[in-house]
Amino acid sequence: MTAALFAALLVTFPAENQKLPATVRTYVIGAAETNRRERLYLNDVEIDVYRTGAFLTMVKVSPGENTLTFSQGTNTLVRRFTVAPPPDPAAPLPPSKPHDPYADLGIPTNAVFAAKPPPGTPPKNVHVMVDAGHGGTDSGALTPCGLKEKDFNLAQALSLEKTLTKAGFKVTMTRTDDSFPALYDRPRRAYREKVDLFISIHHNATGCGSNPREARHTVTYASNDKGLALARAVQKHVAQVMAPVRDIGAQIKSLAVCRNPAIPSCLVEVDFINLPEGEEESGDPVRREKVSKAILMGILDWIAE
Ligand SMILES: [Zn+2]
Repeated sequence: MTAALFAALLVTFPAENQKLPATVRTYVIGAAETNRRERLYLNDVEIDVYRTGAFLTMVKVSPGENTLTFSQGTNTLVRRFTVAPPPDPAAPLPPSKPHDPYADLGIPTNAVFAAKPPPGTPPKNVHVMVDAGHGGTDSGALTPCGLKEKDFNLAQALSLEKTLTKAGFKVTMTRTDDSFPALYDRPRRAYREKVDLFISIHHNATGCGSNPREARHTVTYASNDKGLALARAVQKHVAQVMAPVRDIGAQIKSLAVCRNPAIPSCLVEVDFINLPEGEEESGDPVRREKVSKAILMGILDWIAE
């Protein structure tokens, strides 16, 4: 996955006429031609262009209309967007509705957890479901060069499929192309096919108010204790190959694909792709293979526990 699909100057975020929630600053990402000698300016302040052409910078914004003017040599690009006013502290909070995390999966809440394969189980007796996050009309996060998270997830998931198959595991993919299996159909299918474990692959991005370069980390999520044991084993190895990217460990988060009460499930957020370094490294097939091997090591550790 390489960039340079853009003309002279590309601004990926914010989009033209985008409405941002209330914030005092936002990140701006895009790409500029690297074979040009001219420097890149944003509102007359020079900004750094990464070797791939990608750029990331933070800008101060104000409620209402904002304008960014980019220029590189004779090329200029103007981007307008609006920022919502700060919320009224006196306004009542919107009502939160109670949520049954399992009901919407269509899996009985009293479903029996699949027993973890006992230590010594040969890989051929272990069925892994690998889920490439997003797909089809759901792009996920965007990189500075305008590449889509769904494609990074698929490439990583296909690499993982290869690694696990080679190690002897039975592997089922939720998608192998740019399709979009409905979110809840993924864990439902894992339940239906009685797989032994479910691993979802994603790449991360920050919200509009934080700096992706400062936020960059690697994390594996689970939504229950069964998933957490798997997430911890996987994260330990993934963090090692991702170093020096910050390791924030395995964490509990309520995620549709991980709330499966029946199957140990986890979701790996490999890297942040809305910064130039994360975009470049996540597109590297060598790194991808290292991450796949790390996930394999994690699964083997988990089985051996
Ligand atoms: Zn995602």
